Amino acid sequence: MNSTTILPTTDLVRSLRDLTAERKVLVLVDANTKIHCLPLLSDLNFDATLELPAGESSKSHHQLDRIYSSLLKYAFTRSDMIVNLGGGMITDIGGFAAATYMRGIPFVNIPTSLLAMVDAAHGGKVGINYQGVKNYIGSFAEAQSCLIAPEFLQTLPEQELRCGYAEMIKHAILRGGNMYEQLCTGDPSAWKDNISADTIRDSFQFKISIVNDDFREAGLRKILNFGHTIGHAIEAVLHNSNETISHGDTVAIGMCCASMLSEKHSGLDHAIGVNIRTYVYEIFGRRAIKQEEIQEIAQMSRTDKKNAEDSIRMVLLEDVGKPLYDIAVPQSDIVEVLNRYQEGL
Ligand code: NAD
Repeated sequence: MNSTTILPTTDLVRSLRDLTAERKVLVLVDANTKIHCLPLLSDLNFDATLELPAGESSKSHHQLDRIYSSLLKYAFTRSDMIVNLGGGMITDIGGFAAATYMRGIPFVNIPTSLLAMVDAAHGGKVGINYQGVKNYIGSFAEAQSCLIAPEFLQTLPEQELRCGYAEMIKHAILRGGNMYEQLCTGDPSAWKDNISADTIRDSFQFKISIVNDDFREAGLRKILNFGHTIGHAIEAVLHNSNETISHGDTVAIGMCCASMLSEKHSGLDHAIGVNIRTYVYEIFGRRAIKQEEIQEIAQMSRTDKKNAEDSIRMVLLEDVGKPLYDIAVPQSDIVEVLNRYQEGL
């Protein structure tokens, strides 16, 4: 079991010094975290620093090869360590490099994006994209420690902050109770005020509690895919037609569509569905999706990893705080809710 701590950067430096004592350390950064985050760790001496280009395309076997080469060059052994200083791209590929180099060396995650703080840096899924398919090559490997310093968010662009907030909304809907009240029922225009050390902690602790019950996603962990079946399909279809859309925006659309499907298939109260959608639309807006893309998205939803052979299996809600997984949804219903999404509530 790993340890996850939320702390100011001064304490982070102290903790990292303890964790890395008497071993070689490679710090993995991207072009942005090198500029904005690495200087906050300048009191520490690392044996090697490797910078990857920023962005999802660096989650590749080419960049993985660069990491292995660095580890070899500095003669890293199993007692040495990788420190992943970055967003989910860095924690995913750095974790995978650590999991596979010499059959596994320890690694520490220092997430610097909101999405990585509440989601990507936890739960042990590590990997890279391959031949255009997200996370096609990967493994399960837990970081030895995860050190979270919310101060890093000060330099994160607003669009990236919003992406992370989509995952916080997802956790709040799945968890229900105070977390839902706090993150999904207030004034949407004040969403940034809801991001604090406390709400970040609640959010990652929720994810960790689910993962601890079902590390390899045999059952319960599937609920974390809420909003992602349609979200991933939108991402893939728009990517194929060279349109840009952020991961957070696709998850937001996916959650809205899943809330409509929940009203039809799993008894979610209409008023709650409307509340979720109103809140999400205010923060993320609504995107026009072309008719031919809607058909493609519905088709693409069938190819999601989580599906059984002949139906689309989705995470739907009986209520906030009461998710159900593996609910069969016909493809025609995906088309219907994507059309409803275009019209509004
Ligand atoms: P990212 O790592 O690409 O970071 C987003 C952008 O923010 C990048 O340009 C990065 O350079 C920049 N950035 C990060 N921290 C910064 C800071 N403090 N200041 C300024 N700029 C900063 O992407 P992400 O949104 O963090 O994560 C997305 C990735 O996470 C995807 O690859 C996704 O598949 C993965 N993911 C993994 C899991 C998991 O369980 N392993 C879960 C969710 C997402």
